[in-house]
Amino acid sequence: MRAEEILERMMRAMNDPDMREGLRRGVSTSVPAVTGALTTWPYLTELADYVRKRKEEVLNNMDHYIEETMRSLTERAKAKAYFASTKEEAIGLVDEILGEGRKVIVKAKSMVTEEIMLREHLVERGHEVYETDLGELIIQVAGDKPMHVIVPAIHLTKEKAAEVLRRAGLDVRGEMTHEEIVSKVREFLRDKFIAADVGISGANSIAADTGALFLVFNEGNISLATTLPPVHIAIVSIEKIMPNITDAFIQVLVQSGYAGLFPPAYLYLVAGPSSTADIEYHRVYGVHGPKELHVILYDGGRREALKDSALREQLFCIKCGRCEFVCPLWNVSGNVWGGNVYGGPLGMAWTAITEGIEKAASLSMFCLLDGACKEVCPEKIDFIKIANYLKRSYVKAVRK
Ligand code: SF4
Repeated sequence: MRAEEILERMMRAMNDPDMREGLRRGVSTSVPAVTGALTTWPYLTELADYVRKRKEEVLNNMDHYIEETMRSLTERAKAKAYFASTKEEAIGLVDEILGEGRKVIVKAKSMVTEEIMLREHLVERGHEVYETDLGELIIQVAGDKPMHVIVPAIHLTKEKAAEVLRRAGLDVRGEMTHEEIVSKVREFLRDKFIAADVGISGANSIAADTGALFLVFNEGNISLATTLPPVHIAIVSIEKIMPNITDAFIQVLVQSGYAGLFPPAYLYLVAGPSSTADIEYHRVYGVHGPKELHVILYDGGRREALKDSALREQLFCIKCGRCEFVCPLWNVSGNVWGGNVYGGPLGMAWTAITEGIEKAASLSMFCLLDGACKEVCPEKIDFIKIANYLKRSYVKAVRK
């Protein structure tokens, strides 16, 4: 996208009073929540340093850890493991797993599925797809992109969110309390969980030594979406790999702390399809939970980014979203300053990795280099270095 178009979109967002009010309300509660968590549990900062060291180990030996994770998934977790280099490959694998016929699919919020535009693809193929995270459901109905990596509908006021949900047939109004709206959403989604043929999720981390996936959430939707349907498909980007199960667990603790959601209501470990050996110690797969677990490890430009000293830095990101809350540009335009999926400071770098340097280079020209994002990032990602690198690429391209 050209810089002029980005500017035009940002100006529209900045002049949208609903959006400004939505962002103001969201930021005014989320920023103190993060500060409160880090003050109350100061060990989270030490754990964040530990996570950086363990991620360094994975990034230095990525091929080895991909291989180990694939082996663990198959041999230990009894999952079906796949590797997808591109968006097309990942989508093709999901199609293959789903097979023929129309399916009811419940989805957990996952930025990787946003990257590959999975929901849009599945709907186009005739499947009935429901996002089960409330914010993401609002985004699905609005036909929008997530405005924050953790809180996708943060830019919408309660009144606006109710207006959007009404389009999906929910009996909600802006004058209702937050609690009343949430209870209507609970009613709406309940039978979708029961009817679903397939549950699709991402993962917040995955352990190479066991193939165990960690999912962190508060709404209770992810356990329902990944336990009730007979088939669970998880799509996990490779930077989520941690060397072992303890490291993977620590990473999700740090992520929820820096997202201001600590301790999270639920921390869910999936290390295989459901099974029992209660009769004669004979293992049977598929009891109350899924009979099949399919895990797709997804590259999507990450191994290429490892070769680039500036972009490699972003692979330490645990997607806590704290950098967005402190960014002056994000505060007035949300993820409108961003690529197709990601926005804000993390979005500038993730767009370069997932959509190409050219696209991110024009975005970077708006970055004010104020450095607040770098200050608050648990993994000390050097955004100034990344932004300057992208700005230089932009200047080089326009001089050609
Ligand atoms: S770049 Fe840092 S602050 Fe931003 S989402 Fe990633 S880990 Fe969190």
